[in-house]
Amino acid sequence: MKKDKIWLSPPHMGGNELEYVHNAFDTNWISQYGSNIDEFEHSLESYLGNNSHVTALSSGTAAIHLALRLLNVEEGDFVICQSFTFVASANPILYLKAVPVFVDSEAQTWNMCPDALEDAVRYCIQQGKKPKAIIAVCLYGMPFKAEEILQISKKYDIPVIEDSAEALGSKYKGQPCGTFGDLSVISFNGNKIITTAGGGVLISRNQEVKKRALFLATQGKDNEEFYNHSELGYNYRMDNIAAGIGRGQLETLEEKIIARRKNHDFYHELLKNNENIDLFSAPSTDFYSNYWLNTVILKNTLSKEILRDKFSQNNIETRYLWKPMHLQPLYKDCKFFGNNLSGTLFDTGLCLPSGTNLTNDCRNRISEVLENEIP
Ligand SMILES: *Cc1c(COP(=O)(O)O)cnc(C)c1O
Repeated sequence: MKKDKIWLSPPHMGGNELEYVHNAFDTNWISQYGSNIDEFEHSLESYLGNNSHVTALSSGTAAIHLALRLLNVEEGDFVICQSFTFVASANPILYLKAVPVFVDSEAQTWNMCPDALEDAVRYCIQQGKKPKAIIAVCLYGMPFKAEEILQISKKYDIPVIEDSAEALGSKYKGQPCGTFGDLSVISFNGNKIITTAGGGVLISRNQEVKKRALFLATQGKDNEEFYNHSELGYNYRMDNIAAGIGRGQLETLEEKIIARRKNHDFYHELLKNNENIDLFSAPSTDFYSNYWLNTVILKNTLSKEILRDKFSQNNIETRYLWKPMHLQPLYKDCKFFGNNLSGTLFDTGLCLPSGTNLTNDCRNRISEVLENEIP
């Protein structure tokens, strides 16, 4: 008999999600308004602290798009973006016909390299245009080097959009991810640490910006009795059903962070003495990762393709690391700054199952494959 599939990062319900969804039905707020949306936003605001103002949206991608609009990014503007990321970090730059400039990763966090960032900023300035924004990502849950990146942002007066789509629950020097950017983004897509099926939030540092985000996210309707529109808006609001799921999920966040970090401990114990494979881990205690996904780098010419096939034959899902944007056909003509560390990571890395519902039986099956293939 074929064993059950072990997924990379499946949704994990189990709190009061259905109760909140029922509440939406009972009160007939099957709508983009309702108490679940308000409560979800408030709960996240108190979780994040640091004067966070949260706008619930239909996706993380929508949140990045709105962040760029809020920073007045227009056609022809430069926007600097981390190359090593999921395509959703960069696509909204093209939605606005702006020009992406990609920056490589550094080896410690796999996120934006401050030196390459400064090279990219200087290049844009030489072209006669200061970049309108820097999109820095907390990839796989690992915080970026916030002090260095924010220092460059300050030095050149360029706002940071923090893409913490994967990093809810992570912290840098005790401060939660989602609070480092001038604008920050978290996703609740089905595979993230908590989910609303599909959804995301934009986090701003003051209420005025939130008001404007909300205006743009709800079709840009002017404050009139009739439907008057002076600006281009979007239909990007989260709905009250999704927000109900989100409320229930958020109540279990601490458990889920602990579970993901336990997965990391499991992989650490399993692989610590293996010279052929490196588990990616936080460079110091300053970096507290939710370990959304556990990732490994294969050494000594071991092949990620072969290992992935072996897992697949055992009905275990794994995935290659994100293919960097500067190597994507879609972005082949864009400027790139760095030494292609991210390309090397893509060539040699694999993401391993990291769900919050990974049982001991699952772990044994994963151990078996790793011990057989990479003794
Ligand atoms: C998931 C993800 C997004 C997009 O979020 P959606 O809610 O799926 O639109 C953006 N950036 C990164 C790094 C992601 O992993």
